[in-house]
Amino acid sequence: MSKKVHISPLANEGMYILDTASWRTERPVINKEKCIECGLCLTYCPVNAIIFDEDKYKITYNYCKGCGICAVECPKKAIDMTPEGGEK
Ligand code: SF4
Ligand code: SF4
Repeated sequence: MSKKVHISPLANEGMYILDTASWRTERPVINKEKCIECGLCLTYCPVNAIIFDEDKYKITYNYCKGCGICAVECPKKAIDMTPEGGEK
């Protein structure tokens, strides 16, 4: 019988879970006022932690490792890296 495990929120069954959230010291927070919904953050995130859901880009904090690549690549500087323990 196969195990039900995932490598990312988007992956199929049969892959490993990466608990990257436990590494994080900062978390990205999207400023919805500045976001132009270009999708670059989703494209660059190395662990597929950004999803497009209900017409918004959202960060899946269970998988985000806090690398900050999304904040660097965002053309509108709409993502702030905040110390862990901030807004969910
Ligand atoms: S890269 Fe920035 S502007 Fe583009 S969707 Fe992501 S948060 Fe919004
Ligand atoms: S901080 Fe890194 S892991 Fe987290 S959403 Fe941004 S690019 Fe993905």
